[in-house]
Amino acid sequence: MSDPSVPLTAVPAAGDRRRALAPAHLRFFHGPMDCGKSTLALQVDHNQSRQGRSGLLVTQGDRSAEPRISSRVGLSRDAVEVDPATDLTLLVRSHWADGRRVDYLIVDEAQFLTPEQVDQLAELVDASHVDVYAFGLTTDFRTRLFPGTQRLLEVADDVQRIQVEVLCWCGLPGLLNARVVDGAMVRSGATVVVADTAPTPAPGETDDPATGSDVHYQVLCRRHHVLGQLGPTAAGPGQLALS
Ligand SMILES: [Zn+2]
Repeated sequence: MSDPSVPLTAVPAAGDRRRALAPAHLRFFHGPMDCGKSTLALQVDHNQSRQGRSGLLVTQGDRSAEPRISSRVGLSRDAVEVDPATDLTLLVRSHWADGRRVDYLIVDEAQFLTPEQVDQLAELVDASHVDVYAFGLTTDFRTRLFPGTQRLLEVADDVQRIQVEVLCWCGLPGLLNARVVDGAMVRSGATVVVADTAPTPAPGETDDPATGSDVHYQVLCRRHHVLGQLGPTAAGPGQLALS
């Protein structure tokens, strides 16, 4: 398996980077929930920092008190929490103003970026030669592209669909995210900001204080997403035994 964090061209010493005007890139990695995006994000960060480069990690929708990018395999790293109002260009410039180097940016949960924020990332690449690695979900539970994902697909230099590690209950590769409310799959409603790594609540655990409903997400193959089947028992809504 090729290492996606290794640039195709040699990387000059970080201090020479802007002077040498080495081309920077906007790279986008996308996939369904649980596909290992955050693990890959942290791997890329590790590989870059090992080359002596300095990175800034940003995320969005993180539920913990201390913003961080965390993966299911137990890795985590402190991150800056951003929201749709954050100007990412100004964020990087403020770090520079404080004397901190930012050679590359790791953006987790990139699906939640606004199109304007994606354009800011492109500007950082083109005008400031900051390498950007963005990681996000492909589609929401209605099988539609997230706005941030759509814009990244439009403008990124390089787009990679992450090799799927997550399987539907039937054994086929899981491609689509299903929203499950009180044991039944739903296809309409607002796109709620839920981090990819948010823990799945235990059955019966209330996840939505507004409605008191148990809301979680499950990855399905396309066929079972279309059929709305959440498990091998062909039971109707509310009768599914979800593990
Ligand atoms: Zn399936």
